[in-house]
Amino acid sequence: AEPQAKFKRVMLKISGEALMGDQGFGLHPPTVERIAREVKSVHDLGVEICMVIGGGNVFRGLQGSAQGMERTTADYMGMLATVMNALAMQSALEGLGVFTRVISAITMNEVAEPYIRRRAVRHLEKKRVCIFAAGTGNPYFTTDTAATLRANEMSCEAIFMGKNGVDGVYDKDPAKHADAKRYEQVSYDDVLTKRLGVMDASAIALARDNNLPIFVFSLDEPGGFRGILAGEGTYTRVQ
Ligand code: UDP
Repeated sequence: AEPQAKFKRVMLKISGEALMGDQGFGLHPPTVERIAREVKSVHDLGVEICMVIGGGNVFRGLQGSAQGMERTTADYMGMLATVMNALAMQSALEGLGVFTRVISAITMNEVAEPYIRRRAVRHLEKKRVCIFAAGTGNPYFTTDTAATLRANEMSCEAIFMGKNGVDGVYDKDPAKHADAKRYEQVSYDDVLTKRLGVMDASAIALARDNNLPIFVFSLDEPGGFRGILAGEGTYTRVQ
């Protein structure tokens, strides 16, 4: 029998790096397709899906500004990087027969729809996957904040943070400490005060202030995203 999804509408946030495979930079289409299959398997359960994809595989504003670029320009470049990633995901999902819309916070009508809240909600009701691109449209923010903002605006029941190489939130870096422990559940305030790298602080605060639960899980596990939506698997719940 089909597992029963516990959620009706969710936000999936992945970093840009999730799309680069072993290349160390840019986009790796087979990896994009692998993640698209994970998304499709949840879409097949009837869950309405919002997505935000980072841009770190192409450009990060902070890195650019550390190397002498003007910060806001560098941030706009980072936002544009997320648009490319969104288009790659759109292409992969539509190749699998899932209808999608890329909705950009920066207007570029030839490439993506502009963000109009009611219109995006309608797309979700029609079971189109909405990929929100260009972050919040503002410099000095991150795609984690964009994911939290859009999740709130779209009335998502939870944010799913798909990670690479880690299956939840640990008390210390599991890559460096063999005795690191994964939290089953952890509070927003503990994430903030213990600086448990789930999301940046403004994104966590925005989720906390709106009681939006965050599920941190591994994207490496095939079927992992679907399993968690059905109440199984390994993850940390931030609430
Ligand atoms: N960015 C921004 N405003 C936003 C979202 C993103 O200025 O609302 C820029 C910022 O420079 C950031 C880059 O876009 O470094 C890529 O996003 P992010 O670092 O969140 O990507 P990820 O780490 O998730 O791949």
